[in-house]
Amino acid sequence: MANIREIFDFPKVLNINIVASIIIVSIREIIMINLDSFSSFFVANWKLNGDFNFIDQYFDGLKLLDDKSRCIVICPTSIHLDKVSQKKNNYYVGAQNVSQYSEGAFTGEVSCKSLTELKIDFCIVGHSERRLIYYENNADVYSKSIQLINNYIVPIICVGETLEEKENGQTNEVLTKQLNEGVPNSSNANNTIIAYEPVWAIGTGLTPSIEEINTTHEFIKKHNTRFNDYKVLYGGSVKANNANDIVSLTCVDGALVGGASLKYEEFSKIIID
Ligand code: PEP
Repeated sequence: MANIREIFDFPKVLNINIVASIIIVSIREIIMINLDSFSSFFVANWKLNGDFNFIDQYFDGLKLLDDKSRCIVICPTSIHLDKVSQKKNNYYVGAQNVSQYSEGAFTGEVSCKSLTELKIDFCIVGHSERRLIYYENNADVYSKSIQLINNYIVPIICVGETLEEKENGQTNEVLTKQLNEGVPNSSNANNTIIAYEPVWAIGTGLTPSIEEINTTHEFIKKHNTRFNDYKVLYGGSVKANNANDIVSLTCVDGALVGGASLKYEEFSKIIID
């Protein structure tokens, strides 16, 4: 009798094992990246550029190091995330934006769930172009970051002052407000990255001095104990000829690169230097 029961129970046991393995595999797949395992981060923000042909040529030419301590993140348009993911080799893929809503009647938006399905690990949030052109505010940055963290995607939260704010001596005040209002309580140094991008330095060829960059990064990390251990990247006219000086600064953990990341020769130099 016992043997017969075992025979009938066999499919049940098998099913439990299958379900358990699926859960283990899925958990492994959705676990967030360990930010502490990297010494520096290089994020390529392609903005609204690139097509299939560009992507093929880019990855044929891009030189990546075997050194896995540098975290390279390529952020193409949403439509190109899948293609860039398929090429994946020693780099991660990031989105440039996400909806703060999980689903529903939000025409044209891209949800965190869709990013998770594509195994996207990072997402830029609150880029100054989104703040200026699409009127995103700190509250939007806050809710998008919560969605991302809940979906095991690392938000790269952008903050930075305009030229007018800099000239009025308001940089620290602006950054404090953006951080206090935009970084959710569920954020911590293990699940969130901050990018300091002075608005006036983006796409202009202008940068703050090396000392100013370090001082501002130090301010971001030290003005509030909760930010002490966050990785803080610098963005704004990073090129092959200034990347090394910037990324070597003690308070800088990497670079967010726009224009220069579109040329694979230049981006290769930025990563390798
Ligand atoms: C950016 O778009 O985030 C950026 C830093 O651009 P660029 O490097 O072109 O200044």
